[in-house]
Parts: sequence; structure tokens; C-alpha cells
Amino acid sequence: MNIYSKSVHFLDGAKVYIADNGDKDVLICEGKAYFGGAEGTNQFELNHETACTLRRLFPFTAPKRVLGEQRSIGLGDRLGIATPGHIKVISKYDIMPVFAQQSIRELDLTGRRYEDVLDAVTFAVFREDFTRGFGADGDHLKRPEDIEYALKLGFTMLTLDLSEHIHHNADGIYSQDVDGIYLGKTFDVEGHAISFTKPELERVKGIYGEALDFAMQMYDRFLKDGNCDLEISIDETDTPTAPSEHFFVASELKRRGADVKTIAPRFIGEFQKGIDYIGDPVAFDAEMEVHAAIARHFGHKVSVHSGSDKFSVFASVGNRTRQKYHVKTAGTNWLEAMRIVAQADTELYRKIHSFALAHFEEAKKYYHVTTDLSAIKPLEDVKDCELPEFFADNNARQLIHITYGLILNAKDDEGRPLFRNRLYKLWREHEEEYALALEKHIGKHLEMLGCPKA
Ligand SMILES: [Zn+2]
Repeated sequence: MNIYSKSVHFLDGAKVYIADNGDKDVLICEGKAYFGGAEGTNQFELNHETACTLRRLFPFTAPKRVLGEQRSIGLGDRLGIATPGHIKVISKYDIMPVFAQQSIRELDLTGRRYEDVLDAVTFAVFREDFTRGFGADGDHLKRPEDIEYALKLGFTMLTLDLSEHIHHNADGIYSQDVDGIYLGKTFDVEGHAISFTKPELERVKGIYGEALDFAMQMYDRFLKDGNCDLEISIDETDTPTAPSEHFFVASELKRRGADVKTIAPRFIGEFQKGIDYIGDPVAFDAEMEVHAAIARHFGHKVSVHSGSDKFSVFASVGNRTRQKYHVKTAGTNWLEAMRIVAQADTELYRKIHSFALAHFEEAKKYYHVTTDLSAIKPLEDVKDCELPEFFADNNARQLIHITYGLILNAKDDEGRPLFRNRLYKLWREHEEEYALALEKHIGKHLEMLGCPKA
């Protein structure tokens, strides 16, 4: 049995650590019966019960509120294996991580639960002795039952997705009479004029009124006690968020008493999954300046969603927000995991690549991408040693990026997992390489954002 050296912790005469027991890791507790079990047992599965006890005994393994800090980054991990690599890179920078971050859509597509997501992080931070703290984000939640679920587990951040209550044709009803506050007024936000003429006020009320009422209902019901940070997400819309819209949403939430830590607007251009920004970086920069000014005006941070691989706009995000931001990345660590497969098991990679091509249309139901499958080099023309080059091609990246759920849940004729077990076994054997790949990849994000070193 191989002991993870950094995992060795002492507590009141007990020695608690994690060891590699061949095909899996186990937790070992010597000297005290903290983890229950029959007499003489000191070896425990890395399951939910063990994680709960660990969080109680070692508070640094439980999530805390981090969204109010200067800089924060969400690093959603769809596989439950990326946190050691994330720790490697985050340790070097002055930024607070949100290691546990998944949407209900991601849970459904990967067949995981919030328990699994949080527990994987708890074991990783214990194993690597990462004591700075981390957040846990119930990402893009829309329903009260989902919010309740995340909060019950101790999640410390809630990303409330208002998209189902936003009326793009501006025909929504707002409960509040706010004409006296905004009508005919122009607000000066660091030199940017935000004006509400009658038609403009009617428009923003019609679009966001009902969404604001819903946000306040959820806030009053779940978040008033202040144990969990709130992010408001208005990014999953068809049109970019106008400055007046960001201003109105932030202003109303503040006036009605909600403590909002971050707001995620929809920016101009395209933030597609797993590839660089599509659009005009100069126009983005000008708009980011206004959004950042509005955020400063109300005291929240701008949150950038689908932030993985947006290298051409990171400098703008870092500068315009004056180094005060939240950036979310999600699937990019899945792509790094698949790059490892392309290097280490070419036969398996080829099978998965073909499977993804055959199931791409199905996966497109869940994600907005503009992938051109015909531009991807045919698999039979690619030599084994060239397979990793697919991950430098945007179309191939998106192909693999959005089909993750189908790949992980694919079954053979007898109902056995087609790829899942082989993949996890391979990733376990190549854990070190994977951690190094993530360190490099996420490190590039932080460098380009201008994040200072720890
Ligand atoms: Zn989003």
C-alpha cells in the first residue's frame, strides 16, 4: 500500500491518511475510532459517509464562501479526478478556487450526484493538504428543489439561473413600481451614462421584471441567512446583456435587499465551449469596461461563464475588472483527460472518436456550438502519434467536448459500460501526467488573466 505523503494528518492522537490500495484509494485512521466501523477496522472506503466525517474533523476539507474574495475561479470537474491537478496550479496563484462546480445538466449527463462532486473534492484537498479553502457552486440552478439539494450538502455558492423568467420580447410583468427611481434619469457610472427613457425602462422591466421577482423569492427563501454566496446568471440568452440591463438588474436586487456577489452577463461575441472567443476582441474590451464599471458601482464582481480557453479576451477581463473577477471553466479538464487517452491508448481513443462523431447531433441538444464536423480530419488519415493533434483543432475539440455525457454513459449490448471503466482505469494509471497537463493548461488561463502569483 502506497501512502500519499501529504495526506498524513494528526488529530488528538489519531493519524489519518489516504493510501493507494492498488486499484483504488482508501482512508486509514489509526489510534481513534473517528470513522466508526467494527472494532479493529481502520481502513475506510472513500464514500459519502467517510467524506462527511472528514469534513467535520478537518474543516479545510469542507467548502467555504470564496466568491466575495478579490479573484475567484470555478473549475468544474465532470469526472471527479481533476482536483489534484487543479490544486497544483491554484497553489501557485493568488486566487480562490471553486473546485466543486456542476450544473444539474452536467450531473444528469455524467450520472453523478452533488454528493459525488463534493466528496471527490474533499478527498483531493485532504490528500494534497490544500488548506487555503475552496468553494462549492450549485451551478445554473433554476428550481427550488435543486437549490435545497445543494444547500443541504453545504454548498457555499449558488448560481441562480434566471433564463426561464427572462422575457426577451419584453412582455413580462414586474411587481414593483420603479418609475420614480429610473424614469427619465441618467446615471453616471464612472463616466458612462446609463439612461432610462420611458421606452427603455419599459423594455428592461418587461425583460427582467419577472426574473427579478423570482430571484428575490429564492433569495428570501434560501439565502437570507448568509451561509451561501449568490451569483445571478443572465448569460444564457440569445442577445448580449446591454449595460442598461446589467445596471437595472443589479440596482433592483440591491434596492430589494439581496446581497449579490457576482453577476454573469452575456457578453458580445460567442463564448462557446472549449474554444477561444469568437468575435471582435476590441469591441469586447470596450463592453467589458462598462460591465466592470457597473459591477464596481454596485459592489459585485463580473462573472465570466464558459471561460475556458478564452485566451484572446483574458487580458481584457483582468484589466477592465482591475483584477476583481470570477471566471468559470468547466469542460476543459475533460478535454485534457481525453488528450491523455489519445496519447496513452490510441485504440480506445479511436473508438471514442468514432462514437462521438456518430452521436454528435444528439449531444447538440444540450450545448450551443457551431462545429463543422466535415472540417475534422478523417480518423483513418491520422497516424497514432498524431491523434493528440485533434486537441489543437476547434472542431474536434467541440466534438469531444459536448459528447462527454454520451461517451461516459455508453453501454454495450449487455448493458455494461462501453468506455467508462476503461477510461477511469487509464486516468488512474496516468494520474501524474493528467495533473501536469491541467497545471499547464489552467496556468495559461491564470497567466493571461494577469493573476498574481501566491
Ligand atoms: Zn453560464
